[in-house]
Amino acid sequence: MIPAFKSGMTTLCVYCSSSDRLDPKYYAAAAQLGGEMADRGWGLVYGGGKTGLMGALARSVKERGGRVVGVIPEFMKERELAFEAADELVSVITMRERKLLMETRADGFVALPGGWGTLEEMMEIITLRQLDVVRKPCVFFNQDGFYDDLIRLFARMLADNFFKPSNLDLFRVATSVPEIFTQLEAARGVPVETKWFETK
Ligand code: AMP
Repeated sequence: MIPAFKSGMTTLCVYCSSSDRLDPKYYAAAAQLGGEMADRGWGLVYGGGKTGLMGALARSVKERGGRVVGVIPEFMKERELAFEAADELVSVITMRERKLLMETRADGFVALPGGWGTLEEMMEIITLRQLDVVRKPCVFFNQDGFYDDLIRLFARMLADNFFKPSNLDLFRVATSVPEIFTQLEAARGVPVETKWFETK
């Protein structure tokens, strides 16, 4: 059997909000995550932005001596949205290319609170995990119940047989920043059952 994961987590991909209009608690948690990643020697790969939680996270990784890789489409760079202090800023043309690069470079994925972009990125990764294309842990940071309604929707999808019970193992949920690390480690190396049902 092919080993599912590398032996250690070195690079974490974080999907999170680009908004500068959030409650300060969200920036504080993003900064806490960045600091704790750097302390553990984990690098960050992310969308390369300087705004919102993305900026707060990347700045805190750098401030604590960690490594930041941003993957950013040209059109966002042209609008001066890039975090120029990144150790590596990879330019891509499309949003799809960006997601592929982030996925390839990461050992695990975390979604902090976010909007359309964050949700789309996390759903794609969980879908790829469901198909066994990606075998890396995925964790939602459910800060103050931010993802409660989405998790309820997942329960409804399961109840109505849109996926099978074991597919809830495709992701984990953390309710504090330290728990993000616990959940990532717990999910690492645990094979998940993939999508396919028996045909009728
Ligand atoms: P959203 O949750 O809609 O704010 O989108 C955030 C996600 O989409 C991030 O994880 C990024 O990969 C991408 N994204 C959206 N807006 C930006 C931006 N201004 N700069 C960089 N990346 C962005």
